[in-house]
Amino acid sequence: MSLLDELETLRAEAAAGLKAAADPAGLEAWRIKYIGTKGLLKAWMKRMGEVPKEDKPAFGQRMNALKDELTAAFEQAQAGTAAARPAAKASFDVTEPLPAGQRHEFGRRHPLTRTTEQLRDTLRALGFEVVEGPEVEDERHNFDDLNIPADHPSRDNWDTFFIAKDALLRSQTSTVQIRVMEQRSRTPPIRVIAPGRVYRPDTIDATHASTFHQVEGLYVDRNVSMADLKGTLQLMVEGLFGEGTRVRFRPSFFPFTEPSAEMDCSCPACAGEGCNVCKGIGWVELGGCGMVDPAVFEAVNRARGDNAYDPEVWSGFAFGFGIERLCMRRHGISDLRLFLENDLRFLRQT
Ligand SMILES: [Zn+2]
Repeated sequence: MSLLDELETLRAEAAAGLKAAADPAGLEAWRIKYIGTKGLLKAWMKRMGEVPKEDKPAFGQRMNALKDELTAAFEQAQAGTAAARPAAKASFDVTEPLPAGQRHEFGRRHPLTRTTEQLRDTLRALGFEVVEGPEVEDERHNFDDLNIPADHPSRDNWDTFFIAKDALLRSQTSTVQIRVMEQRSRTPPIRVIAPGRVYRPDTIDATHASTFHQVEGLYVDRNVSMADLKGTLQLMVEGLFGEGTRVRFRPSFFPFTEPSAEMDCSCPACAGEGCNVCKGIGWVELGGCGMVDPAVFEAVNRARGDNAYDPEVWSGFAFGFGIERLCMRRHGISDLRLFLENDLRFLRQT
């Protein structure tokens, strides 16, 4: 078989292949195979060396003719499939109804974001300012100045992520209390809330996560009392769970507050009647709070080098709540892990 005969076979195959290519993808595959820069035609051009000298002009002409022929056939086929397609729209008409069976998908904010916003709105109305602090902290802000003794078990590696000597991922937003009071540009009275992410090396299960969110509150003024604390939290809880939700304090202990209390609210699921969510008690636990320990004010004064937070003049309350827990109570969510799984069915439900 001569080279020219082989070329004729190639031409016939290419023509048949083009006829079979029905759509733009098929056409593109054909183009790459035959007339593309690494295609068969290019490979054939390189065989010029095998051609006897006297046949070179004829072979060259034949190659060029074949290239023109295939290119023209390809362009024609391409125009054919383009004509068969509806012309591309010049612009997108947002008012045009969707085809039957399709609907617009609406996005919404994550339930944790919405719970945080609800907290923020209620407390802002009471004059609280929203502040933030760093997530990487030192031991002084996470422990020492919060009156947590050097031998306190929460300093253990099991309860705090240490990332270097004297550098850790904050295990509570209480650090922001210290950060705010340390600022020399501020003097009491202080009214701040600090929502943010905290970290603890907990084993992840339905009620524990190694990364979660807290909201910290701090109010420092003259003559602040437990009654102010309870009134503030009452409003916060009603904002979250609706009017008529009751709160109660149980005595507790935290190093940075004295006296300290755990706060419960009447079970949002049964309005205090008793159900399986509240284990029949009618109350559910929300978080900790108390009056700022004078030792915290003294630590802040030491850091500032003044007596701006004289414990004889100023008093204050502080509270800290897990936002996940509040959100779970609010929406009847039983598993913390759902917040992190990006399951659209969950996100649409809450
Ligand atoms: Zn209940």
